[in-house]
Amino acid sequence: MSDLNDFRVLVTGASRGIGAAIARDLAAHGARVAGMATRIENLEATGRAVEEAGGDFLPLAGDVADPATATAAVAAMQEAWGGVDGLVANAGVTRDGLLLRMGEDDWETVVRTNLGGAFHLLKAVTRPMMKQRAGRVVLMGSVVALIGNPGQANYCAAKAGLHGLARSAALELGGRGITVNVVAPGFVETDMTSELPEEARQAMLAKIALGRGARPEDLCGPVRFLLGPDGGYVTGQVLVVDGGLSLG
Ligand code: NAP
Repeated sequence: MSDLNDFRVLVTGASRGIGAAIARDLAAHGARVAGMATRIENLEATGRAVEEAGGDFLPLAGDVADPATATAAVAAMQEAWGGVDGLVANAGVTRDGLLLRMGEDDWETVVRTNLGGAFHLLKAVTRPMMKQRAGRVVLMGSVVALIGNPGQANYCAAKAGLHGLARSAALELGGRGITVNVVAPGFVETDMTSELPEEARQAMLAKIALGRGARPEDLCGPVRFLLGPDGGYVTGQVLVVDGGLSLG
C-alpha cells in the first residue's frame, strides 16, 4: 500500500516499542522515515526493518529535551529530503514515585523529556510546514493524563500538558493546513511497562475492556490515520487508544 507515498516523517523514540512499530508501519505504507533515539546504534534494527518494508530511513541521534536536537533533526531532513511533512513526537520516559518522595530530578527529567521534547520538535517543524502550507503532527500522550495514576504525578502532568500544547498549536496552525493531535495509549507491552511489579501489571490489565494489553502495533493504525489522507480534517483532538482501560 502507498497511501503515504513519499511522506517525509520524523518519528522520535524509534529504536524500540511503540516508535519502532510506527516507523516500520509508516514505511510499509510508503513514507520516508527519519527515526530518532538517544544513540545512533540503537536505531540499527529499526533501520533494517524500515528498509525491508521498502522505505528510506534516516537515523538521527539526540536528547529530545535539548532544543538543539530538534533543530538539527529538521535540518537533516531538509538536507536529505528537502522538507518535513509529518512528526510523531513519541519519545518518552518515566521516573515513577509517590508525590511525597518524588525528587526534583525525577520531575524535571520527565517534564523536560515528555513535554519539553514535544514542544521543541513541534516548534522546529512548524516553519517548514507553514511554508509548505501542509503538515501533520501526532504527539504521543497517555490515557493516564485523563485519569491520573498513583506514582506518576510527573508523567501524568507532562502528558496532560501535551493536550494544551496540541490544542493551542492546532488553533495557531490550522490556517496553514497543519493538524496537531494527541494519541493516548493505555497499557502497551514495551520496555516501559516490562519493569512494573507483577501486581501492578495485573491490576492494570484487569481494567482493560478488551481483556489484553496493547501491542505496539495496535497504535500504528490510529497514528497512520491522523498522518494520512483520511485524517486531514481532525485537529486539536486526543484520540484514546486504550482498549477501554479508561472506561471505568
Ligand atoms: P520505550 O519502549 O521505553 O521506548 C522509549 C523510546 O524513547 C526509545 O526509542 C528511546 O530511545 C526514546 N527516548 C527516551 N528518552 C529519550 C530522549 N531523551 N531523547 C530521545 N529519545 C528518547 O517506550 P514506549 O513504551 O514505546 O513508549 C513510547 C511513548 O508512548 C512514550 O511517550 C510513552 O510515554 C508513551 N506511552 C507508553 C505506554 C506504554 O504502556 N508503554 C502507554 C502510554 C503512553 P533509546 O532506545 O535510545 O533509549
